[in-house]
Parts: sequence; C-alpha cells; structure tokens
Amino acid sequence: MAKPKLDIVLCAPRGFCAGVDRAIQIVELALEKYGAPVYVRHAIVHNKYVVDGLRRKGAVFVEELDEIPESTTAPVVFSAHGVPKAVPAEAKAKNMFFLDATCPLVSKVHIEANRHFAEGREIVLIGHAGHVEVIGTMGQLPPGAVTLVQTVADAEAFTPRDPAQLAFVTQTTLSVDDTHEIVETLRRRFPAIAMPHKEDICYATTNRQEAVKRVAPDVDAMIVVGAPESSNSVRLVEVAQRAGCPRAMLVERASLIDWSKFEGVSRLGVTAGASAPETLVDEVIEAFAERYEISVTASGQQRETIVFNLPRDLRAPAAPAA
Ligand code: SF4
Repeated sequence: MAKPKLDIVLCAPRGFCAGVDRAIQIVELALEKYGAPVYVRHAIVHNKYVVDGLRRKGAVFVEELDEIPESTTAPVVFSAHGVPKAVPAEAKAKNMFFLDATCPLVSKVHIEANRHFAEGREIVLIGHAGHVEVIGTMGQLPPGAVTLVQTVADAEAFTPRDPAQLAFVTQTTLSVDDTHEIVETLRRRFPAIAMPHKEDICYATTNRQEAVKRVAPDVDAMIVVGAPESSNSVRLVEVAQRAGCPRAMLVERASLIDWSKFEGVSRLGVTAGASAPETLVDEVIEAFAERYEISVTASGQQRETIVFNLPRDLRAPAAPAA
C-alpha cells in the first residue's frame, strides 16, 4: 500500500546553541585531559541523550557537591544553567578543582543582578520558580534581595520597598512575548525601573522562537525535539500553539512519538530546543519516513556565528612563535 504523503518543514535555526555546545565540550575536554571520572553538578544540559552519552565516557552526575568523595582530585563541572554563589564557595572550601560551564549569557545576568544590588536596587527576576537557572540567579545575592515574578498577575501584585530603586533581570530562556507583557506591566507601574542594557533572553531562545512563529501558522502539527525539563523547548511548544498550531508537542526520542496525534496531518513542522542534538532530529525524520512518503524543506537559515571561549584550563596551548 502506498504511504501517505507528508511535507516536513524544518525550522532554522534549531537545536544546539553556543552555550550548550561549550558546556558539552567542557566535559569532553576535561575527560580527555584529566581522565575519568569527571564529576558534573546537575545535568550539564537538559537532554537525557547528551547526559547518557557523557556518562558512558566517564562523567558522573551529582546534584550536590556533598555526593562527591572529599578525597577526589577529579574535576567538578558546574552546568550551563549556572549555580548559586554558595556552590563555588563550597567547592573552594573543600579544595575541589572546578570548571564552570555556566553559559556566558547566564553569567551576564548574574553580573547585572550583582551590579544592581551594589547600587542599592531591589531586583525583580522574571522567570519560572524552581528552574535551575532561576535558583542560580537568585543565589547570587542574599535572601530577600531578589523577588521572583512569574506572571503579569505577579507583576501587578508586586510591592517594592522603594519604586525609585528597582531593577529587573530575566531568565534567558523565556517566551519573548510573555516576558514583554510582564515587562510592560512593571514599567507602567514603576516607570523608573532599571532595565538590562541588552535583552536577557538570549539570542538562541529568540531566534528559535522566531523560526517557530514563521512556520507554525502554515503546518498541521509541530514537533519540538527536546526534553520536558528544557525550558526553551517547552517555550517553543507554547510559541507554536499561540502562533496558530494547536497540535504542537514535545518529542524526546523517535521511540516516544505518539502516532495517534498525527492522524490527518499532511504538513509537519519540526524544530529542536537548544539542548537537543541534531541526531535526534534526524531520528524523528527517519521515523516519519518509515510511515510516510516525506519531502523535507527548510524554513530559515541555520547560521549562527556566536562561539564562547572555553575556561583557561581547557584551552589549547598557543602555538610557538615561528
Ligand atoms: S539557551 Fe541561551 S542562555 Fe541557555 S545555554 Fe544556550 S545560549 Fe546560553
């Protein structure tokens, strides 16, 4: 029997961002340079496939430093999402050798929060409670210095100590549109609120959301390859749904596709969150190719040129002068 036809529209850019790429490289280079084990505090990036691959190479994942034997000389890597200040302080007190894989764009938010605090401002953090990046950003400052605002309703209800001494920062992986509404609410209520010089929502989050907005109105269903813990992947599903594709869903692996959700679909959008490797996108497309006669077209360009420096300990030595 002939297979039904399916047009797949691949959103670009999609998948790995520079911060995720750097974090994975840090663990891989640490394994090469120092040998196994390399301890990693928290999932280095929110993708089980990536974490399992690194585990097979000798990475040991822990949630807290006290799970690491005190006698070890093995390196400890902090994840791309960033850590509260207490974590490097504890590592130093225990004489641990640590490598910080915090994405430089998350570090930028930490620096902003510290600067506002030093200048006497109360800080509003727009983000999602419990997300590891939010825990890391709030943990840059003493308790009470940062108030978390998650919704427009929170922004309406927030009462600052002094509206003239107020600033906001945001999580890097939020929905651009939702955040805009929250920011507008804060600015209407507190016109003097200090804002980031440059948007805190990162380039990768913004670019992937824009690509999805372009494709979503034109497809019957949209797959976001990514994990439920990945904030930017979950936001992509919401963005697609709001942009006109109610049948948008997360898919972690091809083996987990719920085929009943694709009945009657003749045009499918596919994208991937910033922590999902392209190999998982290929796997999903191959799974569709087994059931459908597929044609694949790209929407947008994959080109992103941002690359972040590695920590000094892992940089290749400079070539000797000729
Ligand atoms: S999603 Fe953005 S902030 Fe997060 S690791 Fe990637 S580039 Fe950095």
